[in-house]
Amino acid sequence: MDCQVLREPLAVSFSYFRKQSMNQFSKTWAVACMVTLALAGCGGGGDAGMGTADNTAGLATNSAALTATLAALPVETLSEAEQESLAFMREEEKLAHDVYIQLDGLWRGYTKVFGNIANSESTHTESVLQLLVRYNLPDPTATLTAGVFQNTTLQNLYTQLLTAGSVSLVEGLKVGATIEEVDMIDINKALLAVDNQDITLVYQNLLKGSRNHLRSFVSTLAKQGVTYVPQYMVEADYLAIVTTPMER
Ligand code: ZN
Ligand code: ZN
Repeated sequence: MDCQVLREPLAVSFSYFRKQSMNQFSKTWAVACMVTLALAGCGGGGDAGMGTADNTAGLATNSAALTATLAALPVETLSEAEQESLAFMREEEKLAHDVYIQLDGLWRGYTKVFGNIANSESTHTESVLQLLVRYNLPDPTATLTAGVFQNTTLQNLYTQLLTAGSVSLVEGLKVGATIEEVDMIDINKALLAVDNQDITLVYQNLLKGSRNHLRSFVSTLAKQGVTYVPQYMVEADYLAIVTTPMER
């Protein structure tokens, strides 16, 4: 995939945040999101509804299962676009994880959704790491701590997302749903430039996870009396996800 592909949804991001604009942070956030939210490619682990203990166990199981699955696939030539995609996805998955961890710290008294999905994001960033290792590529997050990123745009976005998601539980949940929407759009676009079987497999799994994450955020918003309105996805595509059951 190339940068243009990743940046395309930015205009949509801006319109969303303009619509949502209701506090002093919105304009700043909108600008940051114009640059990076569309870059966000949070995948999915697909087990957002599970308890923490289950997720911890599942994380190790998923990792081992993925290792075995990848071992059966050929190591093919990497295009430059695929290489860039992997580095970006590794760090972006870290961003999704780190944002959800912080939102979980704020809102866990009301919902477990952020904590559960953060666990799922751990499996996503781990799955991308497995590909980096498999292709002898450096891990951009190797020396980074929580909330710290090599990509300066992602670094800024991290702060902006936390600001918006900290306003209220509902705003936090909307941030989550919006991230998952854009993630799916971006991963789908990234897939257009990927032909290696192993990368395709991992990205398809990230997509499945994001579908489940979207379902979780939307259903949690519904429990708060809020009907989420899709900001980026075609409505039919959105409805096809949120009206169907969680996937395993
Ligand atoms: Zn993810
Ligand atoms: Zn996700």
